[in-house]
Amino acid sequence: MRIVESLTGMRRLSRRLPRPLILVPTMGALHEGHLALVDHARCLAGRRGSTVVSIFVNPTQFGPREDFHKYPRPFKRDCSLLRERKCDVVFAPAPAEMYAPDASVTVNESTMAAAMCGTSRPGHFAGVCTVVTKLFNLVQPDSAVFGEKDFQQLAILRRMVRDLNIPVRIIGHPTVRESDGLALSSRNVYLSAEERKQAPLIQQALREAELKIRTQAVRRQALENWMRRRIERGSLAKVDYVVAVDPKTLQPKEPIRLPVLLAAAVFFGATRLIDNLLVE
Ligand code: AMP
Repeated sequence: MRIVESLTGMRRLSRRLPRPLILVPTMGALHEGHLALVDHARCLAGRRGSTVVSIFVNPTQFGPREDFHKYPRPFKRDCSLLRERKCDVVFAPAPAEMYAPDASVTVNESTMAAAMCGTSRPGHFAGVCTVVTKLFNLVQPDSAVFGEKDFQQLAILRRMVRDLNIPVRIIGHPTVRESDGLALSSRNVYLSAEERKQAPLIQQALREAELKIRTQAVRRQALENWMRRRIERGSLAKVDYVVAVDPKTLQPKEPIRLPVLLAAAVFFGATRLIDNLLVE
């Protein structure tokens, strides 16, 4: 497994890597959710093709009061996990090289990025779209794998490659969970023991809402309020948003008809967790 830090080094290597070349963009602090994407990439690349995993904690997708500086960066551990999963190349660009001090061009999606996480994290998706475009330019992959846990991100990136004619196939992968239903996340390490106990309430509430949708007529606002109350049964949970939206447009779905995406962001103290459930 090669570890590449320089941008020109990555560009040069990508020309020589056997195809298909499959990219998995990450911010590191890898867990089994990330590793499932890497396994899927390996499967798509086959024995002949190549897998590249990028590790880059992208400053432009963090807000000024978010956890950019304290975000975990266990680089050596990440590399040994990736070696075990037969990854071919780790691309870990040096932060100073990625952005010119006077960088002034960004990539913005202007409808879906305004909803859900975009409301409480202004600028977040512009940061994501910009860094993913840069990674695509540097690595030149045929396909890139992203987790459905970040459903909004996946939808926006699909729109981005469509609208900008970027020749990369975007592939979604199902969310990997703990046995109690909590979605794996690099941020779960921030949770206290009591917060960790309450965190599975998010997925539980979405599952209970799914049952409601399948068995009775429900109005969107009433359903959203109900999900909020179910999650906040956890005394430490503070809902940022919980919505029932159209999975294609991410706009509120009224009346509720399948398919519908149930999605939530919930604070436990300073830790913000997201999760979703697609009801089809
Ligand atoms: P991150 O390092 O948080 O930027 O995540 C990198 C990629 O891993 C993104 O495509 C995420 O959607 C995906 N991912 C994160 N957590 C999970 C999970 N629990 N299951 C599946 N994919 C995940």
